This record gives sequence, structure tokens and C-alpha cells, in this order.
Amino acid sequence: MKKVIVIGGGIAGLAAAYRLQEEINRGAQVSCTVLEGSDRLGGKIHTIRRDGFILERGPDSFISQKPAVVELCKKLGIDDHLMGTKTDHPQTFVYLNRKMVTIPDGLSLMVPTKFMPFVTTRLFSWPGKIRMGLDLFLPRRRGNSDESLASFVRRRLGTEALEHMAQPLMSGIYASDPEEMSLNASFPMFAQVEKKYRSLVLGMLAQKRKRATAPPTPKGYKPFSFFLTMKNGLSEIVETLVEQSPDIQFRTQAPVESLRRKGNNWHIGLKSGETLEADAVILSTPANRTARLMEDWAPGISARLDQIPYVSTAAVVLGFDRNHFAHPLRGFGFVVPHIEKRKITACTWVSSKFPGRAPDDRVLLRAFVGGAVNEHLAEQDSETIKQQVRDELQDIMGIREEPLFCEVFQYRKGNVQYRVHHPQLVSEIEKELEDFKGLYLAGSAYKGIGIPDCVKNGTENADAALKFLGVKSELSQSGTA
Ligand SMILES: Cc1cc2nc3c(=O)[nH]c(=O)nc-3n(C[C@H](O)[C@H](O)[C@H](O)COP(=O)(O)OP(=O)(O)OC[C@H]3O[C@@H](n4cnc5c(N)ncnc54)[C@H](O)[C@@H]3O)c2cc1C
Repeated sequence: MKKVIVIGGGIAGLAAAYRLQEEINRGAQVSCTVLEGSDRLGGKIHTIRRDGFILERGPDSFISQKPAVVELCKKLGIDDHLMGTKTDHPQTFVYLNRKMVTIPDGLSLMVPTKFMPFVTTRLFSWPGKIRMGLDLFLPRRRGNSDESLASFVRRRLGTEALEHMAQPLMSGIYASDPEEMSLNASFPMFAQVEKKYRSLVLGMLAQKRKRATAPPTPKGYKPFSFFLTMKNGLSEIVETLVEQSPDIQFRTQAPVESLRRKGNNWHIGLKSGETLEADAVILSTPANRTARLMEDWAPGISARLDQIPYVSTAAVVLGFDRNHFAHPLRGFGFVVPHIEKRKITACTWVSSKFPGRAPDDRVLLRAFVGGAVNEHLAEQDSETIKQQVRDELQDIMGIREEPLFCEVFQYRKGNVQYRVHHPQLVSEIEKELEDFKGLYLAGSAYKGIGIPDCVKNGTENADAALKFLGVKSELSQSGTA
């Protein structure tokens, strides 16, 4: 019986373990243990259910356009618990010049694809709009080399599009600074669109038309909302996955301190002093932890892993009594451009965005602090963060009401950043890794930060391990899987 050890029980490691469980169900002769350092599984995914509220410490949703999570939910039989955003007030705002400005309809990831909403929006000045329109005439860039998202947006759409739109969205979604962020790693489709269509606007329009006329995918999957979440919070995926993996041994409070190759085996040393052996290891720990486990025997890979930076963020969750809450909360929330010089980067009006997040007579908000541009703000003590967020929400939204609760969730160096040339760094790591048979790197540090990317990446690494060990079930090999 071959043995696989997965180090790190975040969603990438769990997706890898579930893939192995699927093969075990089909008769593969393989065993698997997941070693998680903390006292719970799920990593960044962490739902708290309390007094009728569903609070998310980390991620609160995932994009539907990448189907890996939806497919996993179907396999787990919980796809009927997938939920889209509410439809009554689907707008999001940018807080600009001390006003809430609606993000215009038809903006496809910051590229305008509808004429009238773009012409009438107050988000851009007339000179700003004319500059964005120049995209229709500008030539394409030559070559394939990576560039920063900021350089790309400035080049194609101008500075205002960057400052009013791209920067606050990137800061809200990726906690990243577009000046440092890799275009090829984060938005490869923009580089491809420019290459194929020259103009971003024309390219996005062409893609939109193609999507509208495309037949449903072979699996019949058509996203019904751009963002999806789970009825009982994202931890529902983690809990169900663990429940449905009876042959996987999940061990929490099992931090790994060392990893070594001995003969054909991998030796894994736990902090407790215990040593385990495995034929293959999937390391799904953050890159900076993975680097420590490899530095003695793979200094090249370790040094490259250390070049993948992480920044700190904090999420502040506030619950209020709806009866005494003056703000109408008509929308999903707002993002704040850096040029506004505020202490929060965004605020989601959670109870207006997703159904079932708060009892009917309560409202739930979540504000964000820190990220690449203002990391130090997220590293302050939690009382200071709390006070700063409450002051900001009072000034921006006029919230004077006393919250029923206000909790700060800090992620110190918890958000991975894909800097310019990240794809090249990952290719170099993969090349060097070929010398270490039976070792796989999974997780958000490499080929996609979002939950769908992590699920896909974990699953693919499990497949690679199964192939290496030659233990795919006969059912899979005969193509019936
Ligand atoms: C605040 C925040 C909000 C986010 N929002 C979204 C969102 O809305 N949508 C979205 O798609 N993505 C979002 N993301 C990104 C997404 O949540 C993460 O990229 C993803 O969950 C990471 O999964 P992972 O398995 O790669 O890593 P992790 O979840 O970090 O898991 C790694 C695990 O390894 C364990 N570990 C570390 N060292 C050791 C060791 N030595 N031994 C054993 N175990 C160890 C850790 O305890 C952890 O459980 C967000 C991230 C953050 C931080």
C-alpha cells in the first residue's frame, strides 16, 4: 500500500486529499494522512455561526467563472447549497471625492463594455473617459514579457481608470498594489485580449458576445451569479469534504518541522518528535513555510519560495440592530481608492449581498484594512483597528449606532502577492522540483489565489502523485471515472 502525506489542511490540501479518497473509493491501493499544524481544518476558510449570523473570518465567496468549486460541491452533493448574490440592489460603489459613486453597469473587470452607463457615470471625468476611449485606437504592445497591472492599465486606459477603478478593486479583492502586481499571473486574459484584439474594449465586447451565444458546457454548468457562496458559510465545503473522506486520516495540531528524503521515502518530522514516512508528499503550506521545510536540501527552491511575498490584512465584522440602523444599505458595499487616503480599503454590506447572513432584524457589515498599500494598519493592535474602522464608517456612511458586536480578524502576512514575473518564478520552482521525485507543491502561492484555483491545484497535484505512484484505480484507468 502506497502512502501519501499532505502537509497543510487548507482548501488546497483538502482538495488533494479528497481526490485521493475518490480513487480509494474506486479501489486504488493508497492511504493518505493530512497533517495540519493548527487545531482546525480549512486554513483561511473559517466560518463562525453565532446567534443567527454567519460570519466569515477569511474568504466569503468565490467566483463562479472558474468551475472547480462548483464541481467539487456537486461531487459532495451540496451543490443545492450554493448561493448567488441577492438581486434586489446588485450595485457596488466606489467612495470617491467623499461620495458613493455606482460602478457603472457593463464594466467587465474594469473595462467598459456598455456605452451609455460609461458615458453617464460620475466615476470618471470627461478627460478620463476620452483617455479610456483611446484604447480603441492604441497599438498593441509587442512581446510577451510580464508587466505590472498598473503599467498595463495606465498604458491602455489611462491614470484615472487606474486610480478610480483598478487600484481599489485590486486592493479589495487581492489586497495587492497594482504597481507591483503581475499582469500575467493575475489577469492573463487581459494580456491575451490585447494580443488577439489589440483593443481591450473591443476584445472584451467580442468575448461577451461569444459567451452569450456559447452552448452550455458539457457538464451543463452555467454560472447564475458572478460570486457564489454556501448556504451555511464556506466552511460547509470543508466540513462535508472531511465527512465524506472516511479513509483519510486528518490530524490537527500536528505541525510539521522537518522533511527529508531517505532512499525512496520521505521522512516527515512533527513538532511532537514523531516521524512519519511517505512515498509521496503534497506540501500545501504557505510558500514561506514550505521554504523553511526545504532550505537544508533544496536551497534553490527555498530561496525562490522566499521571493513570494505575503502581506497583512484585517477584516472587521460588525453586527447591528436593523430597527435602529439609519443607512439603507442598498447595494453590496463599496471600495475605497488609495487616493482618498482612508484607513479602510472596502466594506461589504454582507446582509445585503448574500441571503441568510444575519437574522431579518439585524444587519452585518465587513470592513477591510491593510493590504500591500497600507499593510501597517492591519498590524496594529485589534482595539486600535476597531476604533479606526468605526470612525471611518461613521465618517463615510454616517453610522453612529452602537454595534451589537465588532470583531477583528487579523491575517498577519496572510495574503500572498503575485509580483511581476511571478509565472517565471513558479516555472523555475517547478523545473527544480523535478529533481525531487514524489514531492508536490500545492496551494495559493503558485497558480491562482482564489478558492477555485486552490481546489483545482490541489486536485491536480493529487493526480500527479497518483500517477507517480502508479496507483490509479482500475476504474479510473479504464476511463469510467
Ligand atoms: C482575508 C482573506 C480573504 C480572502 N477572500 C477570498 C475570497 O473572498 N474569495 C476567494 O476565492 N479567495 C479569497 N481569499 C484567498 C483564499 O482564501 C486563499 O488563497 C485560500 O483559502 C488558500 O488556501 P490554501 O490551502 O492554499 O492555504 P491556507 O488556507 O493558508 O492553508 C494552509 C494550511 O497550512 C497549515 N500549515 C502551515 N504550516 C504548517 C506546518 N508546518 N505543518 C502543518 N500545517 C501547516 C496552516 O495552518 C493552514 O491551515 C482570501 C484570503 C484572505 C486571507
